Amino acid sequence: MAADRPYEYVIIGGGLAGASAIQGIREKDPDGSILLACAEKHLPYNRPPLTKQLWTGKKKLVEIFVNSPEFYRKSRADVMLGTKIVSIDAASHTVTDTQEISYAYRKLLLATGGAPQMLNIPGGDTDGLCYFRYLDDYLQVREEAAKGKSAVVIGGGFIGSEIAAALSLNGVFVTMVFPEPYLCSRVFPEALGRAIQDRYIEKGVDIVSGDRPALIEKREGRFVTQTGRGRQIETDIAIAGIGIKPSLGLAQKAGLRTADGIEVDEFLQTSDPDIFAAGDNALFPYHALGKRMRVEHWDNALNQGKQAGRNMAGRREPYTYMPYFFSDLFEFGYEAVGEVSTESLETWADWQKENDTGVVYYIKDGKIRGALMCNIWGKLDEARKLILEGGRITHESLKGAIV
Ligand SMILES: Cc1cc2nc3c(=O)[nH]c(=O)nc-3n(C[C@H](O)[C@H](O)[C@H](O)COP(=O)(O)OP(=O)(O)OC[C@H]3O[C@@H](n4cnc5c(N)ncnc54)[C@H](O)[C@@H]3O)c2cc1C
Repeated sequence: MAADRPYEYVIIGGGLAGASAIQGIREKDPDGSILLACAEKHLPYNRPPLTKQLWTGKKKLVEIFVNSPEFYRKSRADVMLGTKIVSIDAASHTVTDTQEISYAYRKLLLATGGAPQMLNIPGGDTDGLCYFRYLDDYLQVREEAAKGKSAVVIGGGFIGSEIAAALSLNGVFVTMVFPEPYLCSRVFPEALGRAIQDRYIEKGVDIVSGDRPALIEKREGRFVTQTGRGRQIETDIAIAGIGIKPSLGLAQKAGLRTADGIEVDEFLQTSDPDIFAAGDNALFPYHALGKRMRVEHWDNALNQGKQAGRNMAGRREPYTYMPYFFSDLFEFGYEAVGEVSTESLETWADWQKENDTGVVYYIKDGKIRGALMCNIWGKLDEARKLILEGGRITHESLKGAIV
């Protein structure tokens, strides 16, 4: 197929990974032509402020963008907003958008991230029910969320707990509904999760745990959520944050190897060596943990995007970085690194202040796999070192290891 427009590098997806790849490419190749195709109509922006600083006034909307417009001009990258790529022809090295315009590439990056999972219940597609992920979702909810309004937030993981705190701080009456026994139960050990949940209750958030929505409908402009256990919750706003599905469609249609993500090797190359993947959609070998993982976090998208860019431009460096992640829930904040799962790992906490300030360690076979540093900042490298050393530990040996 003859392409309408030829490029050296084509990046599909204008999220953090895609935007960061431009920087990576330019570190190695100052001249090669770049196209960034973004389905969204906004320049690439950071998502964390959508549930945090934009609600606390610590950031203004103009401050959330990954780069200034000048950056793209100076990088001589063509940024096409509102442009969705619908197919890849790996044999002819071309991609095609919804307008049937095709673009040739020498190297291609799939930075397509993930899309919100939908509730598979009657009313899961009710008009106005917000599956919170994008800037447009923030703009919609911000407009609706006046003081004194009410909201149901479905999901007790990262997005649900952050947006619930943000709304509550802004005077909205929030009811949270989630099937797990307590907030963020996949990451927090029970005592910590329940202590955080108690803070939510103290702030006036109504917690409906161990339950799930069975039906959502709109009556006279208001949302009515019926739960499986018989609660009926009537609100002005309805938000769901129940996880994402990696966007794999393009990769699968192009015949690339996929599982719970687009499979890439240590150089972030897919099963087609001219196609790379990075960010929320990439299933990559996590060196320090010795297993394949997909990581849905900001720092990973940033660094993996850059590394993919460098490698597309010929650097061929393995991605060995250990990304961190962070969250803010009212006055409680944390940074974490490694594998932090209560589902597959034992946990042990070294508290300076019970369930508030200290470190939760995630342990398997006597070795540290991850660390969650609660209200402790700037200790990521110490945690990374403990994980990388891979030595056998005892609870005694961990006491005071990170303070
Ligand atoms: C509200 C919110 C808060 C968060 N807070 C935190 C936090 O506190 N800490 C943390 O570590 N992480 C946080 N995250 C996660 C973090 O933001 C993500 O890991 C990161 O945004 C992933 O970036 P990405 O570029 O891989 O994918 P995405 O951000 O999903 O971007 C992918 C982009 O590609 C576009 N796209 C997809 N398919 C196509 C196509 N065919 N053609 C063109 N464009 C396409 C999409 O529209 C999207 O714009 C948060 C996420 C959200 C939603």
